[in-house]
Amino acid sequence: MGSDFNVAIVGGGISGLTLAIALIDAGVNTTIYEAAPKFGEIGAGVAFGPNAARAMELISPKVYDAFIACKTDNIWESKQNTWFTIRVGDARKGDKDGYAKPGLKVGDAWFDVNFTNDYSRGGVYRAHFLDALVKHVPESAAKFGKKLVDVEQATDGSGDVVLRFDDGTTAQHNAVIGCDGIKSKTREIVLGAEDPASRAVFSGKYAYRGLIPMDKAVELLGAEVAQNSNMFFGYHGHLLTFPIEKGRTFNVVAFASRETWEKPNWVVTTSKEEMVADFEGWGKTVQDIVGAMEKPDIWALFMHPPAKTYYKGRVCLLGDAAHATTPHQGAGAGMCIEDSLVLGSLLKDAKNVADVERAFSAYDEVRRPRSLKNVVTSKEAGQLYDFELEGDDLDKVEQNMKHRMEWVWNEDLPAQIEKARKIYQGARANI
Ligand SMILES: Cc1cc2nc3c(=O)[nH]c(=O)nc-3n(C[C@H](O)[C@H](O)[C@H](O)COP(=O)(O)OP(=O)(O)OC[C@H]3O[C@@H](n4cnc5c(N)ncnc54)[C@H](O)[C@@H]3O)c2cc1C
Repeated sequence: MGSDFNVAIVGGGISGLTLAIALIDAGVNTTIYEAAPKFGEIGAGVAFGPNAARAMELISPKVYDAFIACKTDNIWESKQNTWFTIRVGDARKGDKDGYAKPGLKVGDAWFDVNFTNDYSRGGVYRAHFLDALVKHVPESAAKFGKKLVDVEQATDGSGDVVLRFDDGTTAQHNAVIGCDGIKSKTREIVLGAEDPASRAVFSGKYAYRGLIPMDKAVELLGAEVAQNSNMFFGYHGHLLTFPIEKGRTFNVVAFASRETWEKPNWVVTTSKEEMVADFEGWGKTVQDIVGAMEKPDIWALFMHPPAKTYYKGRVCLLGDAAHATTPHQGAGAGMCIEDSLVLGSLLKDAKNVADVERAFSAYDEVRRPRSLKNVVTSKEAGQLYDFELEGDDLDKVEQNMKHRMEWVWNEDLPAQIEKARKIYQGARANI
């Protein structure tokens, strides 16, 4: 093993680390530049669907085992195949007796959206999952406190890229892969600062995130709601919950709507009163959950307009840097991991630096349509849950919900790699 080229990865989140593991395993000389003083994730949950777990499995047992060690499924046996149990959460949809439609009370289980394949899936506590990934990245491969501020072409005629950091230092590499998230600097470099798609836009939704100890959640909500995944739909908002940390913690994300976001920060602290006021008029279960949430930070949800390309020359975008999305399909991080799988597989085949750009091109062709589709359908999903897409016509909402995730979950990833390899080999053959 061992490649004749080296790559820099900018950013050590889920994207940067899964890609680094794939590349290091393939013998590619890889350095991660991370702005923060160490690797780290926020203290919140993230759910992975079967496509994400399958991608992890195909990248490396190291990634898959990290997931399996951290993941939590629905606790109840009868809910093992359920993505979310859907409920109407908003009491304003109920009649005077609390019925949202004949036979269905606000807060009751309405229908289950079930997985349609047998691959693993589940929710993880982000910080634990990242820690489990970090163990597989050699210390020597990571440089911290390296905030990228620019990428320039080397002046030595090599065609290399020179990374410029805010501490005044530089680093020269054959190629760079930007895994630097939604506020990506590398995206601006690939698309050009004048391209409006180089910056994320507000999606019209914001979220409160919270963790509640499971015993408290069971006491408050009963075991069925507390120990399994649920979504509560309503007017211009929804709430989702799932168990994490092997069932010790109840993870909540509560969504609401507003037209614009003017504040420079995308995460701001608010008061508990403001959070509770956002769910005034909702049913008892939702109000109980919101009432039990502490530390009410608001997360403004931004998303990227579609990028016209994911690479330029020897600079490539991966993960949120390429296609930051709203979280309404719980598929953003899964798409990041699929990206790492496909680009990692192509770079494994690359023999020299000339092949790297061909690999970027094949990756772009295969990954861009699917990951951009997720951005569009995810925004739409948020509107559906918030009674904005099909209105509050519950039959139409149910119909729309039933199969809308299948294209995400049932992707044939080996076929995707094969397709990317064919494009890449075709480009090599045309040299
Ligand atoms: C509320 C919410 C809930 C979500 N829930 C889910 C879910 O349930 N399931 C799911 O699949 N997805 C979910 N997502 C999406 C998921 O969180 C992201 O897709 C994923 O975390 C992106 O990972 P990333 O590594 O690409 O980017 P990030 O996690 O943003 O990592 C980027 C890294 O780059 C570093 N960096 C940034 N700029 C620079 C720079 N200039 N120089 C050097 N380093 C830099 C950062 O410090 C960071 O370490 C959710 C998102 C939100 C907002």
